[in-house]
Formats: sequence, C-alpha cells, structure tokens
Amino acid sequence: MSTNNMIGNAVCWNITNICNRNCQYCFRELNENAQSLETNLGILNNLKEIGIKKITFSGGEPFIYPYIINLMAKAKEYGMTVNVVTNGSLLKEDNVEYYLQYVDKVSFSCDSPRRYINDQIGRGEDSYDHIKEIIPHIRKYYDKDRLLIDINTVVTYDPDGLYRELDYMIDAIRNELLNNSINKWKIIRFYPLRGKAKDNKNKFYVPDEKFIEIKKEYETDSEYLKIDVRNFDSLDNNVIVSPCGIIKVSRDGEEIPILDLKPAKRMEEGANRVQ
Ligand code: SF4
Repeated sequence: MSTNNMIGNAVCWNITNICNRNCQYCFRELNENAQSLETNLGILNNLKEIGIKKITFSGGEPFIYPYIINLMAKAKEYGMTVNVVTNGSLLKEDNVEYYLQYVDKVSFSCDSPRRYINDQIGRGEDSYDHIKEIIPHIRKYYDKDRLLIDINTVVTYDPDGLYRELDYMIDAIRNELLNNSINKWKIIRFYPLRGKAKDNKNKFYVPDEKFIEIKKEYETDSEYLKIDVRNFDSLDNNVIVSPCGIIKVSRDGEEIPILDLKPAKRMEEGANRVQ
C-alpha cells in the first residue's frame, strides 16, 4: 500500500503531550514535546501538500498549546475542516467565542457525571460540571449549524458491576446536555496503546464479549441522540500526527511511523519516510 493510501485525507494531530488532567487510562505520547509555532506551521503546510482536508486537534489538552488559534486559523485558510477534542477545562464563559472561532466540531471528553468517579479516574472532580456549564455559553455564540458538539466517553472494564457509568452518562446527556443540541455521543473502547493506558491494561481492558454487549445495548442512530460505539479498530484507521510532527498509523496495538512532516525533513528529497 502506498504511503498516501495509508494516510487518507484526515488526521488527528496530537499537538501537545501536556495535559492538566491525570486520567489513569490516558494514552497520550509522553516522550514527545510540542513544537514551535514556526515548525508547526511548516508541518501544517506539509499536511496540506499531501492532501489532508480534515484535522482533529487533540493532545494532551490542545488548548494548552499557546498557538493553537494560529494553527486553526491557518488550517481554515487552507480550506480544511477543523475539529478539536478537549477536556474542556480551559474553555470559559469569556473565551469560548475566541477559542472556537475556527472550529467545526468540538468533542468533549467526559466519562462520568459523578464527581467522585471523575476524581478517582483522574479527570478532575468538577470535569462534568464544568462541561455542563460551558456548553450553553458556547451555544450563545455558535448554533448547531455552525458548530457540532460531541461527547466522547472512554468505556473501561467494570468487573464488579458496582457502577455502570454509561447509564449515568446517558441519563446526564438526556436530562442535562441534550437541549443544547448535542450532535453525537461516542463511546470508545479503552485502548492500551501507549503510556499509562499500557501500564494499566489489566485494570481497564474491556473483554471482547463485554464490548459486544455494550455495542448492542447502546448503539443507535436515533434522531433524538445518535450513539456511536467504537472499537479501537476504528482508531486504527485514525492516522495521527504526533507532537513532534511524525505521521503514525496504529495496527494491532503497535504504532507505525509513516512520514516525518517537520519542514527540514520534507525539504530533503526522499528523506521524509521514517525508517
Ligand atoms: S485522557 Fe485526555 S484529559 Fe485525560 S490526561 Fe489524557 S489527554 Fe488529559
């Protein structure tokens, strides 16, 4: 398969490895640092050159990267669709209009509405409450035709059945979030790809049979609330750009580096494939 066929036209760009939360199943790259604005503008230009039409900025927490707005503005100038996945903590009433001005879809990472669970998993006790509070402010500036809002939930194993966070989440979405025009609820199977997620695999891994049950129980294309239950196979199709500017594709829990997009590398003919 050619490099271009492997990459397609959409990437998830992990713009920084820094986060202000400490989730126990996080798989962000811990060994790569964010690049300067100049380098990232070069990387963005190279993404345009290889035919990328959609960028999802992620991290770490993407709004921690100080030049995220510059990159989003440039991506828009290039005619790209701009999405962002965020824990929402840095979005405030007085900055949402600014931070989301170039964004087509914002996906909030949120696994439970319950404070003590959010505290236990490392999301931060007030993480759901903050998202619930900030979404109506977003809707004051951007309606559903201008900006899509998704909720992303990582589903982790619950061997004792002591709590079923998906049930708490669906109630919270229906009763507290849905009237702000939520586009979709994405339930994503825990993926022990790297970092803490790999270290904590035994604690959080959802067995195949359990995942099939969850998919059967929750997935729906209803007009009222679309619920998309995703296995990590679908993440395998997600091509990522790592914080240091390398395109990687994951296969069977391993990441394959495909292309180094840093401007200096791209300038050397033939030196852009990672060995
Ligand atoms: S899962 Fe997201 S919010 Fe949690 S530590 Fe990782 S990057 Fe931060």
